[in-house]
Amino acid sequence: MTTRKELAGIGVSAGAAVAPVVVLQPAPGVDAKEPASVDPAADIERVRQAMAAVADDLRARAAVASDTGRKVLEATAQLATDKGLVKAVLKKLKAGSGVTAAVHDATEGYATLMASLGGYMAERVTDLYDIRDRTIAQLRGLPMPGVPALSEPAIVVAHDLAPADTAGLNPATVVGIITAAGGVTSHTAILAAQYGIPAVVKVDGALELATGTPVALDGGSGRVVANPTDADIEEIVSRQHRRDELVARASGSGATADGTPIKLLINIGNADDAEQAAATDAQGTGLFRTEFVFLNRATAPTVAEQTEVYTRVLAAFGSQRVVVRTLDAGADKPLAFATQEHEDNPALGIRGIRLTTSKPELLASQLDALAAAYEATGRAADLRIMAPMIATVEEARAFAEQVRSRNLPCVGVMIEVPGAAVRARHLLREVDFASIGTNDLSQYTMAADRMQGELAVLLDVWQPALLELIKATCDGGRSADAPIGVCGEAGGDPLLALVLVGLGVSSLSMAAGKLPAVRAALSLHDLPACQAMAEAALAADTAAGAREAVLALADPALVAAL
Ligand code: PEP
Ligand code: MG
Repeated sequence: MTTRKELAGIGVSAGAAVAPVVVLQPAPGVDAKEPASVDPAADIERVRQAMAAVADDLRARAAVASDTGRKVLEATAQLATDKGLVKAVLKKLKAGSGVTAAVHDATEGYATLMASLGGYMAERVTDLYDIRDRTIAQLRGLPMPGVPALSEPAIVVAHDLAPADTAGLNPATVVGIITAAGGVTSHTAILAAQYGIPAVVKVDGALELATGTPVALDGGSGRVVANPTDADIEEIVSRQHRRDELVARASGSGATADGTPIKLLINIGNADDAEQAAATDAQGTGLFRTEFVFLNRATAPTVAEQTEVYTRVLAAFGSQRVVVRTLDAGADKPLAFATQEHEDNPALGIRGIRLTTSKPELLASQLDALAAAYEATGRAADLRIMAPMIATVEEARAFAEQVRSRNLPCVGVMIEVPGAAVRARHLLREVDFASIGTNDLSQYTMAADRMQGELAVLLDVWQPALLELIKATCDGGRSADAPIGVCGEAGGDPLLALVLVGLGVSSLSMAAGKLPAVRAALSLHDLPACQAMAEAALAADTAAGAREAVLALADPALVAAL
């Protein structure tokens, strides 16, 4: 391709990059000429050795990688020694497959199983394919697939980057990432943002780019231009400059231009995240997704194990706000020890707080551990505990009783179910606060699976129906005199954040990388301006119309940086 071409995807790590692309070589496939296995015992030994060599290689790279990279590489290395996978390969060998075909087919079966579990497990499918490709390369004596050593700055293009690839990236030479697959919660997205490498995922036509093609990309807007003109480059680079300038305008605690304080918080999933978040100028965490700590466990964690994790989290934040969400197992976040099996509709099934009926010990042990951690840290933190997926007043009341009976200071509910939003006034008489989970509230309001990329239009956070339910929650909060926060993805959109504040939200919790732009957006608008934006958004007929109406009212410095 030598002519200029615009491609579009989802921007997941802001920043501009202009460089030639390097398209990753496809992984070595099955050896078409290999014989069928006649000695499965000897062949499985070869496979085992190949997998061990892959694991060793990944661990060696982990030893010299950064903190985040190390964990990803170690997790992938662990998959390379998975006993279940070896067993599945042996089965294929016994059925007469050749060695590389056995590895290939066994992985496929395993991947289908993981993909069907959805959420975190589904995202690990990429790791599994990485192990397959490395093992086959090892067995065939071919070079390991992955990012080649680069001597010049380049934008890496791939179908999807295996976490092991992303973890080993050198930001000095890899100045941008483009993938054909992926989504906002994929490993590529999370790691690229952590490394500060501009990245655009889900780019249609990405794989048609040839190595060496010059490309300009905007990891904020998701714009990709192949063979860009000088004007394209100027537009993308100057937009990034405006973004940098915008972010540099504000620091410290969050507030609107007229001084209305808005707490700006970071979403975390484990104690390491907590320590990193505490080192920034955020004001604490507004969502600690406790289930993330225990995703890989086969059995429920003990009170002592949990106390250790929670103590680290509370200690990291000192006297800052720490909003802990009790286990939200089920649907896109299955936990082996908690999730109900064989549900036809897991998202509408026994997940979140609903698990307390069949497994009351899970919540009890979690609250006991939180109480112990709170005491161990001198009751210093502004600790708030909330339950996911609350739908009724009875659920809110029962949860509040459990939290308060342990002398814990503050109890709340997540608003993720439309029924709870509509009746927020009543729910909030039972608890001290609410936090809106816009990811789930949006999926249940629009009856659109949040993991289904093709329904992105329905899941648009600007959908007026979603905004109506956020308004209902805020109205309920006002009448019960209870603060309302937002901790779903919507809170990290700098333009929408203004609408949320206009509706009455007093805290926003988001991914760390999104906070500076939200803080800057707030600092440019006073509360009456935010209220006018909320009114304009609610008056619109469509999601696009709502955004347009708010853009028309926004400060030009913000509009220029979006
Ligand atoms: C949400 O649903 O918006 C939320 C914050 O919770 P999670 O994404 O963990 O379901
Ligand atoms: Mg949720």
